[in-house]
Amino acid sequence: MARPAFRFAPSPNGLLHLGHARSALLNDAMARAAGRRLLLRIEDIDPARCRPDFEAAIFEDLAWLGLEWEAPVRRQSEHFADYESALARLEALGLVYASFESRGEIRRAVAERPGWPSDPDGAPLFPFSRDMSSPETRAQRRAAGEPYALRLDMKQAATLTGPLDWQEIDAAGGAARRIAADPRAWGDVILARKEVPTSYHLAVVVDDALQGITHVVRGADLKAATSVHRVLQALLGLPAPLYTHHALLLDAEGRKLSKSIGSQGLDALRAQGVTPDEVRRQALGKAFADMTGRCRNIHVTGTE
Ligand code: GLU
Repeated sequence: MARPAFRFAPSPNGLLHLGHARSALLNDAMARAAGRRLLLRIEDIDPARCRPDFEAAIFEDLAWLGLEWEAPVRRQSEHFADYESALARLEALGLVYASFESRGEIRRAVAERPGWPSDPDGAPLFPFSRDMSSPETRAQRRAAGEPYALRLDMKQAATLTGPLDWQEIDAAGGAARRIAADPRAWGDVILARKEVPTSYHLAVVVDDALQGITHVVRGADLKAATSVHRVLQALLGLPAPLYTHHALLLDAEGRKLSKSIGSQGLDALRAQGVTPDEVRRQALGKAFADMTGRCRNIHVTGTE
């Protein structure tokens, strides 16, 4: 049986706030209860947004909170070859195609289609029609060296995998529940961007498997993405971890904490004299009581 392994996987594109602290502390507490493997992964595939000073701040903030993680830390930007070989396997299955559409083109296509549905992240569902351009035209444009993203043909992929689900340990505790995956709600997700040879979805699935992660504990905003992750795991023959998607911390206006709305960073709280224990209480809140109940009950049953 695999030794329980948890990971906290921040992106160094800003400073950590209390919402990140909640994820990190839940991972830490559950890892301790289950036998203590806690890994840290730096999700820095986006060179335009990720910065070394943010990465340094992540290490500092987590150490200040009292977290200890295994070395070496996996930095995604150092492992593009792993994602490329996973992509090659998906291409060999005939499930990947080149997509040349720019954001502007997609915006215009949506404007012509009032009421066009969005994916769970709010992006327009892709493709708009199966014949936006023929496979031959796409292959020619790719051969001619035009920049392209690579997308997963989700309809074919879902047909190939058949119905999928995952085991969710509820943040309120109790036994694992099976949740049915709904990958078609995502449409043809991007697997590699024009300027980056992978995507969040592909990198996270490859890394969780390579790092032997048995438990994924992350915010509820990533729950829907698990459907995509299950499809990729099934196509690539990778084990499925157990999942916990915890409630997000909201600000006074009910918005989820985020870098983009200027939520206060842990460094600012520290500078104001807030102690790690106070952050722990604020970050975990009621979730902390729920979590300690749940920690008695962590089994590795999610792998297959
Ligand atoms: N890197 C992602 C984030 O910072 C988390 C990914 C995950 O936990 O799967 O939101």
